[in-house]
Amino acid sequence: QQGRLSGQVAIVTGASSGIGEATALALSAEGAGVVLVARREERLRELQSRIEAQGGRAEIVVADVADESQARLAVERAVGAFGRVDILVNNAGLMLLGPVTNADTTDWRRMIDVNLLGLMYATHAAVPHMKTQGNGHVVNISSVSGRGASPTSAGYSATKWGVGGFSEGLRQEVRLHGIRVTVIEPGVVATELTNHITHQETKTTYEGRISQMTTLESEDIAAAVLYAVTQPKRVNVNEILIRPLDQG
Ligand code: NDP
Repeated sequence: QQGRLSGQVAIVTGASSGIGEATALALSAEGAGVVLVARREERLRELQSRIEAQGGRAEIVVADVADESQARLAVERAVGAFGRVDILVNNAGLMLLGPVTNADTTDWRRMIDVNLLGLMYATHAAVPHMKTQGNGHVVNISSVSGRGASPTSAGYSATKWGVGGFSEGLRQEVRLHGIRVTVIEPGVVATELTNHITHQETKTTYEGRISQMTTLESEDIAAAVLYAVTQPKRVNVNEILIRPLDQG
């Protein structure tokens, strides 16, 4: 497939739904070979078929990024199948909102394991390949909750704030190796993200709030990723914050 990313290879974690799925489609439409990573194999296979039907190339890796060896496998598979890795989109995540008081601390561990450590493991595995190539781009999907917090976002915000700190340190470390780092901070996007909230009162309140607004679509965030990765090599788009017009 010909496009602005022809010859490049992108890994997208959390590609089985929402923002990751839209991002994989957008990168593929610009000619990138894509490696689709998530736990739900059936969803990944469906997406792989759609990409191939459009003339693209996709590999799937069924992996839980919270497991370091599985996160590493995703990168190894990209290098094995395509011989390189140009773009890593760390998108896999969970938003288990709820108050700190009486929180089920399992929620915190799950979010830290996926949103933060999963992203760090995949980056750790990809960066040496990018350094050898002398080019690469790490795109980390944070959130508006990585810059601000609300009474039910403390645990989630802790993980996304962590993504911001990790990304900024990484940016400074790898820039002279031709590796760019971008943090994307979406506001409310219509996806399956809210399905997993375990604190029922918070889930009901949040879903009620977003049902009143015109939210962003996953494609809007995919467009931001595409913007960052298609700039000339001299341009390091560090941060993109995007809210729906309806979000205060
Ligand atoms: P979805 O729930 O639709 O997508 C989440 C993706 O992450 C799925 O593909 C899921 O796949 C994957 N995932 C979850 N846990 C794991 C795991 N352990 N290993 C591998 N993959 C995993 O939600 P979104 O598309 O909205 O979320 C994507 C990112 O965007 C998240 O990081 C989220 O925090 C962020 N974000 C979303 C916002 C929104 O309003 N929707 C706003 C701001 C940020 P599977 O279950 O198959 O493993």
